[in-house]
Amino acid sequence: LSTNTHSVVIVGYGGMGSYHAKLIANNTRLKVTGTYDILEERRKVSEEDGYPAYENYEAVLNDPAVDVILIATPNDVHKELVITALRHGKHVICEKPVTMFVKDFEEMMAVSEETGRVLMVHQNRRWDEDFLIIKEMYDKGMIGDLFQIESRVHGANGIPGDWRHLEAYGGGMLLDWGVHLLDQFVFMIDSRIKSVTSRLSFILGDEVDDGFEATLEFENGVTAIAEVGTTNFITLPRWYVKGTEGTAVIEDWSLKGRAVIQNREVGKVEPKPIKAGVGLTKTMAPPSEEATLTESLPEPFQHKSSFYDNFADVVEGEAEPIVKNNEVLRVLNLIENVFKAARTREVVKDFDIYEPKN
Ligand code: NAD
Repeated sequence: LSTNTHSVVIVGYGGMGSYHAKLIANNTRLKVTGTYDILEERRKVSEEDGYPAYENYEAVLNDPAVDVILIATPNDVHKELVITALRHGKHVICEKPVTMFVKDFEEMMAVSEETGRVLMVHQNRRWDEDFLIIKEMYDKGMIGDLFQIESRVHGANGIPGDWRHLEAYGGGMLLDWGVHLLDQFVFMIDSRIKSVTSRLSFILGDEVDDGFEATLEFENGVTAIAEVGTTNFITLPRWYVKGTEGTAVIEDWSLKGRAVIQNREVGKVEPKPIKAGVGLTKTMAPPSEEATLTESLPEPFQHKSSFYDNFADVVEGEAEPIVKNNEVLRVLNLIENVFKAARTREVVKDFDIYEPKN
């Protein structure tokens, strides 16, 4: 195992920047040696937290002791900060969404290739356990082949903070949470996207979306629905998935959930009619208990390493990135098309350029 330490300067010492500092403190390969924030009050907080604050970005760029720059600013300035960092010979970790548009990320990728410096996007929710349980079910067929995957995050606190309310900064929930949910789909579902429909919500009167719903159809027959809401005082389950042999649910971040599977040992059991409302139904009667098995959720899929360890490995040429830039590009293209589908109220089908070849 490598014992190299890579010195990291965090640029943008706000909510996420300071969280990175806490996480990296537990990592043996990376070490936070300083920060830079445009706000003096944030530079002060950084100093109080024990991380020396640079006076300006040039000082970070020109410091030969800095190996890695981690960008955790609002989304609109990611591109410029990343490109200058790469051009100064630094490796870069950039927060999500890496940019708002495909063409901007293409430019950033080109500079990364040209300079031979690593650029890796912090799609950290690929490591979320709830997602990794669903990925395990998708890969191993615990409830048969998944054909409908519904992924939701619901809050009741509206859009948080300041810049997330504004389009110019890359605000809105599709760019904020949507980029995670769609990234999880693209990482898990091994097929090309056939079509997208979507609807954005503007319940709170912001200029950006306060939530959205997007439905993706994949060529392998999977339908995936992502939904984000910020006005949901009662939440729907985090995950609801249907397979050819059962159904599974993960209620929330506590990972409470279950799978209900057809019992192959027992033949088909005729349902008994139930009274439903004022009517009678067999169709909607619950599955018979003898014909089904209720099981606990599987152990989550395990990545080979953490985000930060993987980044260090990639810098040292020891591994492939777990978050690959062509996947990030694919998600940005998908987001552009989710916006387009919402705007035109049409089914969008033109995915050919960025989708993997069959
Ligand atoms: P924030 O507003 O709390 O912090 C942003 C900080 O950047 C502020 O302190 C601000 O002063 C500073 N800043 C702005 N422009 C700058 C510049 N040009 N140079 C240096 N500093 C600058 O925002 P946040 O919630 O921390 O979000 C920051 C980024 O992290 C966003 O891209 C966001 O999407 C991402 N984020 C990711 C996750 C995740 O789990 N991956 C979670 C939260 C936020």
